[in-house]
Amino acid sequence: MAAIPSTMNAVQIARTGGVEVLEHKAVPVPVPGPGQVLVRNRFAGVNFIDTYFRSGLYPSPHFPLTLGREAAGEVVAAHASVTRLGPGTRVVYMSGPAAGTYAQYAAVDAAAVVAVPDGISDRQAAAVLLQGLTAWTFIREAGNVQPGQWTLVHAAAGGVGLLLVQMLRSVGAKVIGTAGSKEKCGLARTNGAEWTIDSRNDDIVARVKEITGGHGVDVIFDGVGKATFDADLQMIAMKGHLISFGNASGAVPPISILLLGQKNVKLMRPVVNGYVAEREDLEKYTSELFELVASGKINVAIHDVYPLRDAARAHSDIESRKTTGKLLINCD
Ligand code: NDP
Repeated sequence: MAAIPSTMNAVQIARTGGVEVLEHKAVPVPVPGPGQVLVRNRFAGVNFIDTYFRSGLYPSPHFPLTLGREAAGEVVAAHASVTRLGPGTRVVYMSGPAAGTYAQYAAVDAAAVVAVPDGISDRQAAAVLLQGLTAWTFIREAGNVQPGQWTLVHAAAGGVGLLLVQMLRSVGAKVIGTAGSKEKCGLARTNGAEWTIDSRNDDIVARVKEITGGHGVDVIFDGVGKATFDADLQMIAMKGHLISFGNASGAVPPISILLLGQKNVKLMRPVVNGYVAEREDLEKYTSELFELVASGKINVAIHDVYPLRDAARAHSDIESRKTTGKLLINCD
């Protein structure tokens, strides 16, 4: 195994703002503390949340902040207190803001690290972990989706969206996808959405009424946020679940809970980490996710792999709505 250097390349922010605040620079390689392993990152996942920390929508716990919340790579060192993950183990993990992943190395809590099985590549692991666990736990726990239910996924050609439509089909739901162009709608259909709605050109609420024969949607998955929330309340079915889980178009403003009484709506604003905070849950959901990938039940679509020094381009691309599927950063 190669010697561990004292410095590494990382992408950090020293203040919030546009993509110009992303700095590619040399920083010290972190030293694993009690309970931690040092991972040589191969691929880091780009997630919309990274743009929230960069823009300031989510407050940064400190500056400078290394961006990135997930990566796959190889364990290269461990604190003496860690016995489970030996050097050379291929791993994938989600991290908190204290261990940013747009970096060549990260010191991560061993409790958050999962070994990658043979048959799953580093690229696939980095591309599917965070968004896949989000989609899968939200289907299983937040929505408790049942076969035959009407479901709707906004931004259905995006990272989380493409995984949601495939998984929803695999559990027997009826899947409607919305997406911002004809091409994106086509991609969502290829991946399992039986009906699609072009969110830039069609009247979503009217189309849903038509498609569902007036029933409405039993479970809505909304990562778009501000732009779609009002429509969600109009097209949700009686006793439906509205799972609002993101802010791609901006944060949903505060609402009056009296609005929910009109259809006895269950409104949730879940965060994936809460469903995998216990080690047992992390292992269960990750192994189910890897099984879905390995068996070919879900395809992990990668939009592009960006060099570490081009992280700004990845942010511009995902924010400009021109990407589909997953964006990765090559940490080499
Ligand atoms: P995506 O790949 O889905 O990219 C965002 C998509 O949102 C765009 O491609 C676009 O699709 C749509 N969109 C609609 N309006 C806008 C807008 N004004 N600006 C930018 N995009 C817009 O990103 P991710 O898969 O990484 O994340 C999707 C959502 O899920 C995000 O809101 C993210 O924060 C959230 N999320 C939440 C988690 C949680 O635990 N709560 C975990 C993971 C993700 P189109 O053009 O088709 O409309």
